[in-house]
Amino acid sequence: MAIYECLGCKRSIESENVKRRVRCQYCGSKLLLKPRIIATNIEAI
Ligand SMILES: [Zn+2]
Repeated sequence: MAIYECLGCKRSIESENVKRRVRCQYCGSKLLLKPRIIATNIEAI
C-alpha cells in the first residue's frame, strides 16, 4: 500500500482513497506526491 502526501494540506492519504481519482479528499488538490510505500513484508529477491 502506498501513502500519498497532499502538497496542499500536507495530509497523508492512503492509496485506497485515490485509486480512482488522484485528488486529495480533504482539500481537493490534485497535487499528490507519492513519497513512501509501506512495505508490509520485505523479502530478498
Ligand atoms: Zn489536501
